[in-house]
Amino acid sequence: MKSLKDDQVFYAFAPTLKPLLTVAQQEEFVLNTRDCFGNQLHSDEDTLDKLNWDAINPGTGPVAIEGVKPGDVVRIDIKKLEITGKSVMTTIPGAGAIKGITEASTRVLDNDNGMLSISTVKGNLQLPIKPMIGVIGLAPLEGSVPNGTPGKHGGNMDCTLIGEGASLYLHAAVEGGLFGCGDVHALMGDGEVLVCGAETPARVTLSASVVNVPQLPTPFVETDELYATIASAKTSDEAFKLAVDNMFDFLTGIVGLSQGDAGRLMSLVGNLKFCQVVDPEITVRFEFPKSVLAQLGFTGIGG
Ligand code: CA
Ligand code: ZN
Repeated sequence: MKSLKDDQVFYAFAPTLKPLLTVAQQEEFVLNTRDCFGNQLHSDEDTLDKLNWDAINPGTGPVAIEGVKPGDVVRIDIKKLEITGKSVMTTIPGAGAIKGITEASTRVLDNDNGMLSISTVKGNLQLPIKPMIGVIGLAPLEGSVPNGTPGKHGGNMDCTLIGEGASLYLHAAVEGGLFGCGDVHALMGDGEVLVCGAETPARVTLSASVVNVPQLPTPFVETDELYATIASAKTSDEAFKLAVDNMFDFLTGIVGLSQGDAGRLMSLVGNLKFCQVVDPEITVRFEFPKSVLAQLGFTGIGG
C-alpha cells in the first residue's frame, strides 16, 4: 500500500504545495502522522519553552487524488485510525477557554489496550480512547491556511466525529485536491476547551473518491448514525448560523424536504454542537440522524 512517513509534512494548506504522493480514486493509502507538537514532548519534564514552534501542527501530505478537478466534491473515507505512540497533553496559562489555568504542565499518558491512563491528585483514571483526526483537509483555492486554522477547506476542525469509519466530504479547489491530515487525538471532548486533546502520533488508512453531489454543503461528515455539517467562523454566532443554514440546505436540497419539514425535523431531532472553541476560528457542527431520513426513503448521498 502507498504511504507517507511522518516526516513528509506540510504546515499550511496551500494550492502551491507539491504532492508527495499520488493515488487513484478508491485506492487505500496510509499517512503516518506526528502529534500536534511534532512529537517533541517525551516526558512530563519537557515543557513548551523547549518547543521548536516551527514544527507545530504538522500535516502529513499532501496527497494528490487522480482525476479530482476544482469544484468536485471529494469523499474521504477513514478506513482505519491506529494510535502509534503515547499521548501528550499540556496546560498553557492564558490559552484555551479555561480562565483558571495558571500553571504550565506537561503530561505524557499511556494509551495501551484502548484505555487512556491519567492520574489526578484524587486518584488514577482509565478512560476508553476514541481516536479522531483534528486536522484534515484539502488545499484552498488561494493563499495559505496554517494547519492550526479551520475553514471551508477543512483544516483544524477538531471534530470528534472524524474517526475510523467516518467519511468527510470537502470541495476540491485545485487539481488533485491536495489532501493531508494530522493532529490525531486518542481522546477529546467536544469543545477542546484546554486547546489540546490526548495528542498522539497515528497511522491513518484512507481512500478518496469524487461523488457527484456538487451542491453538498461542505465540510460535511457522515458516520454510521448521522450526517453533520461543519462550519468555522471568527465568532461562534457566525459559525452556528452557518452550520444550521448548511444542514437546512442539505435537507431541502439533496434530501428534498420542504422548508417546514426540514425546520421541524431539525428542531426535533437535530443537535447543534461545538467542535472546538480554541482555534483562530470557532468550529460548530449540526448533526442529523440518518435513521430519520431512512424512514423517508433517503438512501444516501449519491455516488
Ligand atoms: Ca487541533
Ligand atoms: Zn490536537
